Amino acid sequence: MSKKAEEFIGRVVEKNPGEVEFHQAVREVVHSVMPYVEAHPRYQKAKILDRVVEPERVIQFRVPWFDDRGEVQVNRGYRIEMSSAIGPYKGGLRFHPSVNLGILKFLAFEQVFKNSLTTLPMGGGKGGSDFDPKGKSDNEVMRFCQSFMTELARHIGPDTDVPAGDIGVGGREVGYLFGQYKRLRNEFTGVLTGKGLGWGGSLIRPEATGYGCVYFVEEMLKTRSEGLAGKVCTVSGSGNVAQYTVEKLLELGAKSVTLSDSDGFIHDPDGIDAQKLQFVMELKNVKRGRIKEYADEYKCKFIPGERPWGIACDLAFPSATQNEVEEADAKKLVKGGCLAIGEGANMPSSPEAIRVFQLAKILYAPGKAANAGGVATSGLEMSQNSQRLSWSRKEVDERLHQIMISIHEACVRYGKDGKHIDYVKGANLAGFLKVADAMIDQGLV
Ligand code: NDP
Repeated sequence: MSKKAEEFIGRVVEKNPGEVEFHQAVREVVHSVMPYVEAHPRYQKAKILDRVVEPERVIQFRVPWFDDRGEVQVNRGYRIEMSSAIGPYKGGLRFHPSVNLGILKFLAFEQVFKNSLTTLPMGGGKGGSDFDPKGKSDNEVMRFCQSFMTELARHIGPDTDVPAGDIGVGGREVGYLFGQYKRLRNEFTGVLTGKGLGWGGSLIRPEATGYGCVYFVEEMLKTRSEGLAGKVCTVSGSGNVAQYTVEKLLELGAKSVTLSDSDGFIHDPDGIDAQKLQFVMELKNVKRGRIKEYADEYKCKFIPGERPWGIACDLAFPSATQNEVEEADAKKLVKGGCLAIGEGANMPSSPEAIRVFQLAKILYAPGKAANAGGVATSGLEMSQNSQRLSWSRKEVDERLHQIMISIHEACVRYGKDGKHIDYVKGANLAGFLKVADAMIDQGLV
């Protein structure tokens, strides 16, 4: 990395102490874009890099709520409004005990470039709470969501900031959040995405992140004259992204052999077929159970406390959380003959793991490109809400597919280095330039 890039990152670290995930995300982007910025004085003069690492606004608030025993509980809520250079702030809400300012700033920062890549007019944001929905009753989740939205409502709006789901925030939570917003504002608008189908949601939105990730990997494989049919895949997580990754892989002839949660992973060498996937969806989305129950049901192995990266595979889809693929995992994947990585999760690979993939010259799709299908389809949900129309499943899926092809093309355009495609550089540079140019056009804001 250049001296200038190192110095810049040093200043970011000093200014944002302890926010290690944010430092990691900034380092990766700066590493990719600094050579371009150094060669183009207009970006330096406008101090674009200094400006994009500073959120436009950070909101932190208290979320008090009653549990089922009538006791008061207090959580912390956040919304990071990172950049509105190319559209209203847009990005999910995460409810997980690990949530803190640094994690949300990393997610909001990544979101800015991801949203730019989608070709749709969306700025970047992220929010959430350290609330843990696990083990809570529906009523507790509802009371929490109502309290959370009571504060958040004053900061968001269909033309200002449009949140969506993320870890711990699915259809149930979006419903409660939307209900409370409507009640406070007396407005039925597209202020959240990931809504229920009967009240403004888009077909394919639940599927979009997983499907989009598979479409992206398919494009990468084509560059090596390969396809998905017959490929053995490892998938981590068992939530929204993992489930629909498995579904699309199955449809396109590949075989998923693992799923995980924070307790460990299951290994089913026969493959997760449609019936087994239905079991997982019921287990995770309705019964809210643990993935171990899959192993009990289908008599396969459950490996507690481990991640699935030691299982030999052709393709790997990390779809749980950040930094879930470390250097040793990456080495195992490469050794096991893995051809491509599609990151369904945000920043699931550590910088050391990414280096292993890049040195091995395997096809590596960073999350901001590979998982952009989710937010892209949220953008399509916003368009449908504005027009008061609903597009068909086929229409939305085709648009999603086309967007993933466009993102792949942008990565190739900006990341091609001889025969090799550096998807990290491609995604970062393509995402960055659109935002940077918009910032220059709009003056010093
Ligand atoms: P869900 O809450 O539906 O599922 C998350 C899954 O990951 C669960 O299986 C969960 O297990 C597991 N997980 C979460 N945290 C950890 C952890 N610290 N260690 C091990 N496993 C963990 O979330 P999503 O599927 O929506 O999100 C998964 C990833 O995809 C996240 O990185 C998210 O930011 C990213 N993403 C999601 C998008 C979307 O549209 N939903 C869009 C783009 C990216 P457990 O139940 O045990 O916690």
